[in-house]
Amino acid sequence: SSRIISAAASRLQHSQTTRRPVSSARPETSSAKTMMDIGTRRIFTEEHDIFRQSVRRFYQEEVVPYHSEWEKAGNVSRELWEKAGSHGLLGILIPEEHGGIGGDVFSAAITWEEQMYANCTGPFFALHSDIIMPYISNYGSKQQIERFIPEMTAGRCISAIAMTEPGAGSDLQGIRTYAKRDGSDWILNGSKVFISNGWLADLVVVVAVTNREAKSAAHGISLFLVEGGMKGFNKGRKLEKMGLKAQDTAELFFEDVRLPADALLGEPNKGFYYLMNELPQERLAIGGISLAGSEFIFEETRNYVTQRKAFGKTIAHLQTVQHKLAELKTEICVGRAFIDSCLQLHAERRLDSATASMAKCWASDLYNKVAYQGVQLHGGWGYMWEYPVAKAYVDARIQTIYGGTNEIMKELIARSIVRKM
Ligand SMILES: Cc1cc2nc3c(=O)[nH]c(=O)nc-3n(C[C@H](O)[C@H](O)[C@H](O)COP(=O)(O)OP(=O)(O)OC[C@H]3O[C@@H](n4cnc5c(N)ncnc54)[C@H](O)[C@@H]3O)c2cc1C
Repeated sequence: SSRIISAAASRLQHSQTTRRPVSSARPETSSAKTMMDIGTRRIFTEEHDIFRQSVRRFYQEEVVPYHSEWEKAGNVSRELWEKAGSHGLLGILIPEEHGGIGGDVFSAAITWEEQMYANCTGPFFALHSDIIMPYISNYGSKQQIERFIPEMTAGRCISAIAMTEPGAGSDLQGIRTYAKRDGSDWILNGSKVFISNGWLADLVVVVAVTNREAKSAAHGISLFLVEGGMKGFNKGRKLEKMGLKAQDTAELFFEDVRLPADALLGEPNKGFYYLMNELPQERLAIGGISLAGSEFIFEETRNYVTQRKAFGKTIAHLQTVQHKLAELKTEICVGRAFIDSCLQLHAERRLDSATASMAKCWASDLYNKVAYQGVQLHGGWGYMWEYPVAKAYVDARIQTIYGGTNEIMKELIARSIVRKM
């Protein structure tokens, strides 16, 4: 498997060094035959297209056939994670010298998009690869990087991040999980809720208070690497959710968990600062996932209305239906232009927090709007689980809530507006 990973790494690195100037031959989403076509959008190169083909194949062969089974189980298999690792789909943005793939943000975006185009939200690879691995790669010690990153890239170590608590979600400064020093060790107590990948996780980045006397709560928070099997670390039930049925979302409990000094990630009391630094990438990922989800629903709906007959013709003949599709397509293409621009900014390390928040907020609202209209245009069949649009509808709902609710996104966007006045 390490040979396949290094082949994937060199292919993705090659795609970075051989980026060609903007090619007018690549259609944008608005003029492509379908929104999911390979070979479109000027941000990508032919090497990206080849990568996209392999990711598409991975989802069709390794995920789609098993997804309904995993929806019943409430989690995907561990084997799938290792297969994803073997295919070079994990840790794309992590430098090769840290044990990652060393690819670019466009390649990571391809994995987000292809997952949504396959309508299989079970494996939360993006959380593991593009949200959690960067914490270890950016703030971890040499030993932590060497120990965890190669295993995470291979899919043998599955990760989660635990911020939210029963009493504190949006207001992260209200968390109560507490790590107390004991010699060079720490003793961790508290509980977390709604933790994605939480049930399968081998490694959890836990956000805990370490200084209750700090001048503000934000100055007294640290991040810890807590491993499955540590004494006093227990996983609760897999939570039953409205959607994301094949994703394991769990409660986590910490009771006098003794953590060695090297479980601390980065410096003590810098956790809030690390979280703020990494959140733009998380928000961009949710934006990218939501936009691709909108594109998938649009294409499903377009197919449906061109086949479904009513009053002697297909419903696509009705002008009200055509106008609805025209409105949705226009909004998706406007959103696509913004998300692609954010991807470019992020590739140049210029994506700021407010812009990433706009991407998350706009795209996730749009995703819900498209999902609502997609179900409506499917009529009663859109309400049936066997129709992909029904699944997409419930999966869309979370995107405006996690990763910071859209109300919190507006707070962040507003702060940047008022500050500049
Ligand atoms: C399926 C799922 C997966 C998740 N995965 C993870 C995970 O992996 N790790 C993790 O740590 N967390 C995770 N979460 C938690 C998620 O990030 C939180 O649910 C979210 O941040 C909101 O927090 P809350 O649920 O406590 O809502 P609250 O903070 O109680 O918010 C309730 C309502 O009040 C609004 N509100 C709150 N504050 C303000 C404000 N200042 N201004 C305006 N409105 C406000 C909110 O927008 C919301 O509408 C997940 C949640 C779900 C459902």
